[in-house]
Amino acid sequence: MTNPLYDALFGKYANADTTFITTTDGREVTHGSFLIESAQFANSFASLGLSKGDRVAVQIEKSVEALCIYAACVQSGLVFLPLNIAYTEKEVRYFVEDSGAKLFVCDSAREGALQKIALDMEASLVTLDADGSGSLTDLSSTQRATFKTVETDGEDLAAFLYTSGTTGRSKGAMLSQNNLLSNAKILAEHWEFTDKDVLLHALPIFHTHGLFVAVNVTLVSGASMIMMPKFDIRTILEKLPRATCLMGVPTFYTRLLAESDFGEVHVKGMRLFISGSAPLLTETHLQFEQRTGHRILERYGMTETNMNTSNPYRGERRAGTVGFPLPGIELKITSPETGVELGDEETGMIEVRGPNVFKGYWKMPEKTKAELRENGFFITGDLGRIDKQGYVHIIGRDKDLIISGGFNIYPKEIESLLDQEEGVLESAVIGVPHADFGETPVAILVRQPGEEPDVDKIKTRISQELARFKHPEKLLVVDELPRNTMGKVQKNRLREQYKDLY
Ligand code: AMP
Repeated sequence: MTNPLYDALFGKYANADTTFITTTDGREVTHGSFLIESAQFANSFASLGLSKGDRVAVQIEKSVEALCIYAACVQSGLVFLPLNIAYTEKEVRYFVEDSGAKLFVCDSAREGALQKIALDMEASLVTLDADGSGSLTDLSSTQRATFKTVETDGEDLAAFLYTSGTTGRSKGAMLSQNNLLSNAKILAEHWEFTDKDVLLHALPIFHTHGLFVAVNVTLVSGASMIMMPKFDIRTILEKLPRATCLMGVPTFYTRLLAESDFGEVHVKGMRLFISGSAPLLTETHLQFEQRTGHRILERYGMTETNMNTSNPYRGERRAGTVGFPLPGIELKITSPETGVELGDEETGMIEVRGPNVFKGYWKMPEKTKAELRENGFFITGDLGRIDKQGYVHIIGRDKDLIISGGFNIYPKEIESLLDQEEGVLESAVIGVPHADFGETPVAILVRQPGEEPDVDKIKTRISQELARFKHPEKLLVVDELPRNTMGKVQKNRLREQYKDLY
């Protein structure tokens, strides 16, 4: 009897009294007890009539029990479908409807509002709250503590992750057991995780970063984790001395640096700080090294592919780059127009191929065909280049490309200049409609706290550095940029906000 993902992540821990999770309120969960609770959930799912291949949509707070649902799905051959807790009722309806989920797990506070969706979709609904209570736990308390693991093939689906959907309809990326397992193994090995590691887990678990990177790497390597319900700077500072590794989005690191008492004393036992999901500013990388002596390791991945590249664990971690393709993963830069492979230092579309690449978008064959080539390369939508030493640089998203008067403008090129200017913390360059040029670049500058950028001086500097068609005529100064929960700058919101500037 085999179930490759279950065996590698969970099954090997049967009856183990080793620590898997320590919660911030002091609860210690062993691998063995975690498996018992997961098996009871799996029995509950079976009692509700679920069988292999059915989807389980889950919109709940982060908790140990939420992870038990993931384990129970893997053990039962069910497809785990975690949803951002911020999604509205209308959005949830779309996900449940689109995926055809047979079971929907939600917080009891939202049960009333979401019950109708479940009824309309003929799905069962159970609740699970942040403290682990709810109708799912009640049902499971009467279930057996073991569950006969459902046999699966590595190609069977393990999860649907819906893309953040900054434009258009959100797409359900279908991830197989092999997609997840191959990536977990590669990352654990590449980052040298062992059973001595303690991961400080402060990311959400409805996203590939906090779920598959953080949790799967921990499980596959025998490490343990300190689980925080959400990112909270004081708790991070309190727990860091007991951890060996932190995985974060760039905002984690800028917030840590904003704490004047943060420094070497907090990181004595740490061996690795990892950043991803959004670009880490070079300035943040350098400041962090100055303050702590640690170079943050930046990596690059996405919902559809898990992780693709990583800076080296032992070699040079280069600021402003996402490192090299991971072992077994191919990455190339192609012309967005023709698909022809480009050379070193040329900017184009990033395409990736490997065991990590998803199986396609659920019920969207056309979209799948447009983005996943027959030869297995996935067209990521990210623009980038590979430098002479082989480091990959992300230049921006394809849809962020500005075409002004027929000329291509890569926002990152302008942003990199702006970010170096005095009084500028960070920047975002967007294209806005323009009667003459079609689109024109506009720069949004975030002021350094307590400082004011000199806009005229910055304009002069840009005019010296960049071709005229790239000059943003308008430079607007703001306090902060809109970001989603994963720390990504929401350029679509900026484009909407400033669409009538001209
Ligand atoms: P998601 O599917 O929500 O994980 O978003 C994936 C997208 O995040 C990628 O396609 C990139 O645009 C962006 N991303 C992830 N990691 C990085 C990184 N290290 N630097 C720049 N962008 C990143």
